[in-house]
Amino acid sequence: MAGGHLFILSGPAGAGKGTLRKILFQKMDMVFSVSCTTRSMRPGEAEGRDYYYISREDFERMARCGEFLEWAEVHGNLYGTRKCDVEGVLYSGRDILLEIDVQGARQVKSRKPEAILIFITAPSLDDLESRLEDRGTETQAQLDVRLRNAANEMRSAREYDHIIVNDELLRASEELAGLIERYRDRTPVPSGGN
Ligand code: 5GP
Repeated sequence: MAGGHLFILSGPAGAGKGTLRKILFQKMDMVFSVSCTTRSMRPGEAEGRDYYYISREDFERMARCGEFLEWAEVHGNLYGTRKCDVEGVLYSGRDILLEIDVQGARQVKSRKPEAILIFITAPSLDDLESRLEDRGTETQAQLDVRLRNAANEMRSAREYDHIIVNDELLRASEELAGLIERYRDRTPVPSGGN
């Protein structure tokens, strides 16, 4: 039986992957994989839409039971993708998009080599810094952690199948949609595996 495509979107904080993803979902019928996280909810976020907000204890128990397709510690919090969510969508033949960090992307690619890895980046680290500051959702300490991690994440871009430079939102969103369309036009990947 044919399955859906599994797309992974990664990139440093401030690269605009969340905004690009929201634009994408206005145009395309695909499923967003809602991750579990131990970080607290930000203003404007909703349980079950942006994340499932769970305790560290529950997260660690789920990890021990093998419930995650991938999980990682990012900026001091735990984030993970539940296996059953992804498998259910792929098996039904729909496409799914995971917005996860580079550690998680590596884990998924090793388990599901057919996953399509897309890296979103800003034109420069200076751009990232000013975008993060403008966003204003982080404290100075959280901002410092995210900026330090950003430099490392930028170095991982070469492991990805595609890199999109978010220099201009409309252009980058069209590039992303075009890329995904090209994969969707191809024969769907076989379902099954891990
Ligand atoms: P934020 O706290 O800003 O929502 O996300 C922080 C980082 O965690 C982002 O790079 C985001 O892509 C990543 N992330 C979100 N969900 C997951 C997940 O399920 N697994 C992994 N490995 N990273 C995730």
